[in-house]
Amino acid sequence: MLVFHILTLFPEFFTGPLDISILKRAREKGLIRIELLNIRDFSKDKHKKVDDYPYGGGAGMVMKPEPIFEAVEFAASTIETEKRRIILLSPQGRVFDQDMARELAQEEHIILICGHYEGVDERVKTIITDEVSIGDFVLTGGEIPALAIVDATSRLIPGVLGSYESVKEESFSNGLLEYPHYTRPEVYRGLRVPEVLLSGNHREIEMFRRREALRRTFEKRPDLFKKLKLTEEDKKLLKEMGLSCQD
Ligand code: SAM
Repeated sequence: MLVFHILTLFPEFFTGPLDISILKRAREKGLIRIELLNIRDFSKDKHKKVDDYPYGGGAGMVMKPEPIFEAVEFAASTIETEKRRIILLSPQGRVFDQDMARELAQEEHIILICGHYEGVDERVKTIITDEVSIGDFVLTGGEIPALAIVDATSRLIPGVLGSYESVKEESFSNGLLEYPHYTRPEVYRGLRVPEVLLSGNHREIEMFRRREALRRTFEKRPDLFKKLKLTEEDKKLLKEMGLSCQD
C-alpha cells in the first residue's frame, strides 16, 4: 500500500477532493492511505506560530523550519520503509510529469510538504528528497500541487482504476497524446463519428487510432514528437497524412 502524508497549514482544503470518486474508492479498497498533518500542531511556540519575518527584510512571511522538521520526522517514524520520498512543493522544483508519477507509484511512503506565504525556510531543503513544481506559475500554496500529485500517482497503482488497460494507452504513456474518443449517438448536431470506428474492423481501428495519436502529437506537442522512436509503420502513416517525420 502507498501511504501519503500531506503536511499542510490547511488540512480542511483536502476534505472533498479525497472523498469522491476514484480516490475515495482507492482508499476504501486499502490501495492507498492518505494522512493529513497540520503543520501548526508541530509548533512548539505557545501561540502555535508557524511563520516569521524574513531575515534580511523584504515582503511576506516565511514558514519556520522547526514545525516542518518535526512534522516530517513524525510522519517518517510512522512508516517503516526504505521506499520513501519527501517532497517539497515549490515553483522552483523539477516539473512534475507522467514519468515522475510512474516513479512515485513504485514507492511505499510519500511525504508532501505544502508551503504557503513566501515559502519555507531554505533549511527545509536539507531533509527532502525532491523539490517538485507542477508548472511555471505561482500558486498561493502547495495544496493544489499536492492534490495533483496524489491523484496522478494513485491512478497508476494497479487496481485503482476500474480497467487497468486504460492507463496503458493514455496520453504520455507511450510518448504520444492519446487518440480521440467518441460515444453514442452516431450523429450529434450533424457531427458524425468516424466511419472506421463503427466498422468492427479491429486492424483498421487500431491504425486509425495510431494515425490520430501521431497527428495530434505532431500538431500539438512537437517537443514530445521529436522524442518519439517511430516504427516503419508510423513513418508510413505520417507520410500518408503529408506530415514529415524526423528522418
Ligand atoms: N516565493 C516563492 C517563489 O517565488 O519561488 C513562491 C511561494 S508560493 C506563493 C507559496 C507556496 O505555494 C510554495 O512554497 C509552494 O509550496 C506552493 N507553490 C506555488 N506554486 C507552485 C507550483 N507551481 N508548484 C508547486 N508548488 C507551488
